[in-house]
Amino acid sequence: MSDIKNKVLSTIKQYKLLKKTDKVVVAVSGGKDSTTALYLLKELNYNVEALHINLGLGDYSEECLEKIKQACGKLGIKLKVVDIKKIFGMRMCHIRSGVQQEKKVSNCMVCGIVKKWLINKEARRIRADKLATGHNLDDEAQTIIMNFLQGNLMLGANSGPETGSIRDKKFIPRIKPLYFIPENNVRKYSKKRKLPVVYKKCPCAVSSLRIRTREYLNKVDNKIKLQIVKNFLKILPNLKKKLLNEKIIYCKLCGEPARNKICKKCSLIKLKN
Ligand code: AMP
Ligand code: ZN
Repeated sequence: MSDIKNKVLSTIKQYKLLKKTDKVVVAVSGGKDSTTALYLLKELNYNVEALHINLGLGDYSEECLEKIKQACGKLGIKLKVVDIKKIFGMRMCHIRSGVQQEKKVSNCMVCGIVKKWLINKEARRIRADKLATGHNLDDEAQTIIMNFLQGNLMLGANSGPETGSIRDKKFIPRIKPLYFIPENNVRKYSKKRKLPVVYKKCPCAVSSLRIRTREYLNKVDNKIKLQIVKNFLKILPNLKKKLLNEKIIYCKLCGEPARNKICKKCSLIKLKN
């Protein structure tokens, strides 16, 4: 078994991420990370389906969809594609420009909030037990450092290889099988196996705290990234304790699980949904 597959399997076992009977829906973007997660979970014989949100970003989105169809076709995986334009009546670029006239939020932040909201809703519709994403070691180390820089480690209290310390019937627990795998190892692996993947960056990912943090962390080696994540996991149980008294409530506008009366998505966009 390859190193990556071994590591993914040991992460699944150590953190009890999946049971063999679980239906695991992989949120696939068309990029190397989520497609690698899709391949590995399928090859480890889990009950896998795929979910893709077509963001409507021109040729980039078309190419992503094409590669995802190839991957799912090869693996014999059922794929659900949700078109953002059908849900919100407009593409991601228009959603963002509407929001950004009022609020100071980066492209990636708006897109991330909308995707998370929609992915949870759709995964619930297809009765997923778990939702897997392609987050890798670099993504996680970046998030920890970003939260630290913003002076709020509690922002990460809901993270880890499995997110969602609060159980709720409307919230599908999210798992990150590539949690301990450095990004450059995922890239090497997907290239070596010639996986159908789009390597281009999203055309809308311009200047955000995450991009600056990534540039900074690219200068340190993988051992340091692993150290950041492992040390964070040591304090995570204490952070999670503070969440124990928190209850999930349902957004007054859309009915989706939220921490406040109005969920993050609805506080940005109040469109039909
Ligand atoms: P990002 O927020 O773009 O860093 O993506 C984080 C994770 O969300 C990816 O690894 C995927 O699992 C998932 N994801 C991102 N974009 C999409 C998309 N368009 N459709 C479905 N899942 C996505
Ligand atoms: Zn809402």
